[in-house]
Amino acid sequence: MQLPEFDTDGLKGFLVQLLNTPSPTGFTDQAIVLCEETLSQLPDVSLNRTHKGALVATIPGETDAPWRALTAHVDTLGAMVKEIKSNGRLKLSKLGGFAWNTVEGEGVTIFTRSGDSFRGALLLTKPSAHVHGQDVGKTERKDDTMEVRLDARTGNADETRDLGISVGDFVAFDPRVEVNNGFVRSRHLDDKACVACIIFAAKALADAGLKPKATTVLHISNYEEVGHGASAGIPPQVAELVSVDMAAVGEGQASDECHATLCVKDSGGPYHYGLNQHMRKLAEQYEIPHKVDIYPYYGSDGEAFWRAGGDVAVALIGPGVDASHNYERTHMEALAATTQWCLAYLLD
Ligand SMILES: [Zn+2]
Repeated sequence: MQLPEFDTDGLKGFLVQLLNTPSPTGFTDQAIVLCEETLSQLPDVSLNRTHKGALVATIPGETDAPWRALTAHVDTLGAMVKEIKSNGRLKLSKLGGFAWNTVEGEGVTIFTRSGDSFRGALLLTKPSAHVHGQDVGKTERKDDTMEVRLDARTGNADETRDLGISVGDFVAFDPRVEVNNGFVRSRHLDDKACVACIIFAAKALADAGLKPKATTVLHISNYEEVGHGASAGIPPQVAELVSVDMAAVGEGQASDECHATLCVKDSGGPYHYGLNQHMRKLAEQYEIPHKVDIYPYYGSDGEAFWRAGGDVAVALIGPGVDASHNYERTHMEALAATTQWCLAYLLD
């Protein structure tokens, strides 16, 4: 059997739009709305939001086989305003796990309580070569040595507060999306790339007039980067959960930017053997470019559901992403492979 074609340009366009929609963990509504609007165009999909803010789309199946779920997360790394400093600049508190040097010099947007936003840049507290000399290179990058310089006239804390900025405001790092020669370079491909893949797999099925074999839930998670995204919102009828998230590319890794990967083990231990076997069989049967790998420093939303007591089989697949939790990159071939793998899973 041939897999239905998916809309490659549509996927790319949606991904770029999603990447350009700021969604640091805890501030994901705009991104959820974009997914909701896209999924609402599909026939037969019922949409719900969990109290926590995740999106749950249910697609009725061809048979009454046990339900399945695919999960991917729209939340990304980011920060919150920790302190308004006496120099008028902002000290940040991180959302998610990353090193400060990976966002040094990046443009940022600060979202205030009243709905305004301000622009600025994340810099060292001693950023100038001509003033701070060798300190620019030598300073350890930590919460105390990084600050946001606002693109607004402020020289002290009161002036910054008068702008409407306060402790707890969300801060998003610019994604800087570019697509060149099939490569997609951007922050936050983890995990917006996979959100695009699962949505466009569902769309390809609908466009071909097909239904999934089993009733299938697409769970768009909004708290993965802090470890508990899919711990809630997976309906009790679900027996299998495929977490769709980036594959870790780098020295010693089997994964690469042009393949999808099945992760058989990460920091949370091994995934479900039976479901892994099924996913490998599908990849071979449909000749999907894939790898099998182990990720050394990694956790997934599938494990979050397991830790919350979810009694389901869990597997993890996703496109290879280079320089993860940094300025990331993947290739359209990896996104195509991931989408096809999701399609094969939905149908078989
Ligand atoms: Zn992720």
